[in-house]
This record gives sequence, structure tokens and C-alpha cells, in this order.
Amino acid sequence: MTEATKRTASCLCGAVRITANNPSNKVGACHCGMCRKWGGGPFMEIDCGTDVSFEGEVDIAVYNSSKWAERGFCKKCGSHLFYRLKENRQHMIPVGLFDDQEHLVFESQVFIDRKPSFYSFSNQTNDMTEAEIFEMYGSP
Ligand SMILES: [Zn+2]
Ligand SMILES: [Zn+2]
Repeated sequence: MTEATKRTASCLCGAVRITANNPSNKVGACHCGMCRKWGGGPFMEIDCGTDVSFEGEVDIAVYNSSKWAERGFCKKCGSHLFYRLKENRQHMIPVGLFDDQEHLVFESQVFIDRKPSFYSFSNQTNDMTEAEIFEMYGSP
């Protein structure tokens, strides 16, 4: 956990700033119906673990999206800020929020079987179906 791995991010209007102290450099995409409904397309995110801090918290609204997770957004500009697991407060943060878009690897796609047929990414990634995810992490 070195200083060099730290990444900063912000919403579109700048009211909310995020510091992820120990983020992954791997980008994942989720094609599930909830993520696509939330964002209008696949959710592309970085797993930032639990060591995440926010400035401008007064402008963050949190939507209770399921039994196990909640989704944050900026009250002023609507930018999506995180998908957060309630149990351990692990944050998946949309990759587009980060100030530095370099040194990232598009590594995985989940709920690949939920992806509509009108698009597909050409990157070589590790893909998981809904059944594979539930087998690995347990059914919700
Ligand atoms: Zn904002
Ligand atoms: Zn999803």
C-alpha cells in the first residue's frame, strides 16, 4: 500500500471529490440489468476496496439498491459515485470519475450472459456468467 497507488476522482460538477487510497488498476464491466438501468449502459468500474474517503459528502445521495449493496450519486450533477457493498463497505467506483485514466487494464466482464446483443467489447477479458458468479460468491 504505497502512496503511488492512490487515485483521486471527482463528479462532473466537482462538488464531490473521492480519494481511493489503495485501488486496483483493473477495470471491470458489469452488464447486469440493474447496472444498465442505473447508468444507461454497462457499469465500468475500479474496485477501490474499503479505504476510500470523500469530500463534499453533503452532496452525496445514497440509493438502497438491494439487500447487499447501495449506489451513490451526486445530488447536484447526478454523476454516479459508487456501488458499495453494505457488509464491508467495499467501493466499486466508475472508472470515468478518475483524474488519471492511464495505467489501467480492462480485465473482466461480469453478468456477460445478461449483456444485450446490440453491443460487445473487443478487449480480451475474463468473463463470468450470472451462474458462475453465484457459484463463486453465493446466491444473494
Ligand atoms: Zn456533482
Ligand atoms: Zn451490475
